[in-house]
Amino acid sequence: MNVYDSERIAAGLKPLGYEITSSLDMADLIIANTCAIREKAEHKVYSFLGRVAGLKKRKPGLLIGVGGCVAQQEGANILERVSHLDLVFGTHAIGRLPGIIRQAGLKKGPIVDIDMTTQIDNFEPVMDRKDVNRVTSFVTIMQGCDNYCTYCVVPYVRGREASKNPGKIIDEIRSLAQTGVREITLLGQNVNSYGKKEGLCSFHDLLSLVDKIDGIWRIRFTTSHPKDLSENLIFCFKDLKKLCNHIHLPVQSGSNRILKLMNRQYTRELYLEKIDKLRSLCPDIAITSDIIVGFPGETHTEFLETLELINRVKYDNLFMFKYSNRPNAPAAGFSGKIAEREKNERFQELLTLQEHITTQKNLALVGSTELVLTEGLSKKQNRLDKNIESSVVQWTGRTSTNRVVNFLQNGKRPCNENFTGKLVDVKIVEAFPHSLLGKPEFVRATPPV
Ligand code: SAH
Ligand code: SF4
Repeated sequence: MNVYDSERIAAGLKPLGYEITSSLDMADLIIANTCAIREKAEHKVYSFLGRVAGLKKRKPGLLIGVGGCVAQQEGANILERVSHLDLVFGTHAIGRLPGIIRQAGLKKGPIVDIDMTTQIDNFEPVMDRKDVNRVTSFVTIMQGCDNYCTYCVVPYVRGREASKNPGKIIDEIRSLAQTGVREITLLGQNVNSYGKKEGLCSFHDLLSLVDKIDGIWRIRFTTSHPKDLSENLIFCFKDLKKLCNHIHLPVQSGSNRILKLMNRQYTRELYLEKIDKLRSLCPDIAITSDIIVGFPGETHTEFLETLELINRVKYDNLFMFKYSNRPNAPAAGFSGKIAEREKNERFQELLTLQEHITTQKNLALVGSTELVLTEGLSKKQNRLDKNIESSVVQWTGRTSTNRVVNFLQNGKRPCNENFTGKLVDVKIVEAFPHSLLGKPEFVRATPPV
């Protein structure tokens, strides 16, 4: 969501003459777009702002701003910790940023805008991406969250749940398709409740509309709350040909007592029932999840229930987090906080288990042929001096199940075949815990029907 918001920020500043630079020294304006989901993310913001303070001494005209969730949460308080800021703007203020920057440029003191009343339909879409040559893109379809999980800061920093009008979403995706985007990920904190509040279409109806857009080959979405995962949505995985064969379904814990304390509004049994339903309709669907270890009061036995659930589901991948106290969230006041050492131990145990499961699943794919949507040169390749004559060029992309596949192309640089944006059948030759390696076999002009 922050990646998408950063794009909105960049697009909004273009008319003022700003361009993205990769060098902090060159910048006339530095904006930190921040995340408040865990304490560590928040610490990173302050250490980054500390690092850029020196630049301002050398370049007095430089403007430094903080946006996003930390800005929303702290407002003017940030100025007490970071005195060299020119602007602080919250999650609903991105559309007002050009005005805020003009005002900040007058240097009459820092500007703070954390008003949260902007309607999502008034969020300007990021249409002007013609300069960006890329294959995948995010599209936010909802803002905020009404679920109030007791550990989570999102409802306080992103506000009430609201859905974007389907017409606007479709227009945005059509325009992305025209710029060469082939895969889109629809974003919302709980996409399953899309449109319910406003009486718009349902999420599965929205998916059907997106499925019909020419030029889009793959659709993903995140995140889907297990309590609201409907049968209709489950059927979309079977019926919509562009919907990728992957669902991210965060469970957070395998213990019913902890799920209740988290206010997740489902039980372990209900969650497992939905997994069974998904797998009965789509046997090879990839399933990923989020887990929090060390929630206040979590006993070792309850942690073992989480491990047991993971062993039962055998996720394709997991995002694992140590519980982090968030000032606004109710769990910050819960008793039974788990010691850092214990959280670390549980985290390590979880990591080892999941790495084993992921590696086994990846190893099982060696020898198979996977259809990969190529996103570009791999990071490793990008790091190589572009002028160096390398005998092998490495590309990267993903399978429909969201596995990263790197594949090698023989030939000297500069390579004459550009795979970016192409669908390639890749024969898998090696498996690693976080990626697969293969050889290209066949390039397709369009997705197989
Ligand atoms: N809306 C999504 C999650 C968004 S936050 C959902 O409901 O699934 C992404 C993940 O961060 C959450 O799923 C949770 O696992 C983790 N998270 C959120 N708050 C946290 C906290 N206080 N401590 C540790 N992890 C947290
Ligand atoms: Fe946070 Fe829960 Fe909302 Fe997800 S559903 S954003 S975890 S409150």
